[in-house]
Amino acid sequence: MKKITTLLPILCLLFSTLYAQEQRTICGYDYLIETMADQDPNFMEAYQKHFEEFKAIGENSNQRGTVLTIPVVFHIVWHTNRPEENLDDSVVLDQLRVLNEAYRFTNEDKVNLRDTFNTIVDDAMIEFTLAGVVRKETAMNFGFGQTDNAKKEATGGSDAWDTKRYLNIWVFKLPSLLGGQLLGMAYPPPFLPNWPFPTNLGAPSAAVDGVIIDFRVFGSNNPNSFGSYDAQGRTTVHEVGHYLGLRHIWGDGVCGADDGAKDTPRANQNSNNFANPCNPDRNTCHNEPTADGLPDRPDMWENYMDYSTESCQVALTKDQITIMRGALEGPRALLLTPITTSLNIAKSKNFGVHPNPVFNNIARIYASDTPNSIEVFDLVGKSVYYSEQVVNGQEINFDGMHKGIYLIMATFDDGKATQKIILK
Ligand SMILES: [Zn+2]
Repeated sequence: MKKITTLLPILCLLFSTLYAQEQRTICGYDYLIETMADQDPNFMEAYQKHFEEFKAIGENSNQRGTVLTIPVVFHIVWHTNRPEENLDDSVVLDQLRVLNEAYRFTNEDKVNLRDTFNTIVDDAMIEFTLAGVVRKETAMNFGFGQTDNAKKEATGGSDAWDTKRYLNIWVFKLPSLLGGQLLGMAYPPPFLPNWPFPTNLGAPSAAVDGVIIDFRVFGSNNPNSFGSYDAQGRTTVHEVGHYLGLRHIWGDGVCGADDGAKDTPRANQNSNNFANPCNPDRNTCHNEPTADGLPDRPDMWENYMDYSTESCQVALTKDQITIMRGALEGPRALLLTPITTSLNIAKSKNFGVHPNPVFNNIARIYASDTPNSIEVFDLVGKSVYYSEQVVNGQEINFDGMHKGIYLIMATFDDGKATQKIILK
């Protein structure tokens, strides 16, 4: 059997396994990729080609130096019998902060980066804004192979907001597999050119595109924990990297494997395979290819795309940033389209509240079609009103709520629509 020396991360499963005191992480997707590469000898070449296309978009971008902003919807899918999974808004906001600090390189611990990497890291100039928080109580568990069920109302989960326009992040109890625990997973940009298989490695359908995160490793102020796992909200940073096209820094292979980013040093395995994941002396690949034009350097466990201890992860490299910005201006470009009043999928819906702005704390719903449900969120994404029995003229009472902007979301058979409400 052919030995695969380069494996792909793309849709990555990040596992953590507790072996006594030792934690290990592996990428479960390796198994699938190995099978695919075995079946098609052109797989690796085709993969590399599309990856180069990504980078070309980023390199030729006329948006260099501008901040690219991604609206994010968090779906907190919690089990009826496990209320601890219904994470507080403060945890959601903390996760948003960690994401923004990572992708703007404003995290305070970036001073811990070793000098040898100072010239290759940068501010990605990518920001994340909170579009909404959806909370879904469920009686369902989502086992291995069923995680996409958490993304659909019909199977006990929470429907995605238009995945072309929002980064959807579902937070729930992820399954264990092979004696390990799945901590996160992301689909890469879908429908890439030159993809070698009819069933590409992107999301199997647009409705399930996005990121999933185990509720115990979400945010850095999470009251839950997973063993001694060092959760700093950076599993989400890592998975969003995959979502934007990044591969693992060790290239999912031994020293010959490349992660597609020229400036990242090579490594022959992920850092979590070592007793001290953040050992400054570790250099698993000497004599890196000189084509990279960079001297031999130690393993870069400071990189978010490693499996090192989360407290050690502080940076992204310039080439990684080029790849992600290429994805954002290419296959994920619709994320950057400003969303004003309504989601594209329900553009035809004429709905909202009257009057708007709301002056006396009372507003009435109007809708050309009867929605299945109406929900109102405050600006931090907290649900403040929910109704499934919706009729035209139905009253929403804002008594006791603070003045400001709210988001009203209506769910119709064919999609969701949102409008802003201003409470005066
Ligand atoms: Zn990964």
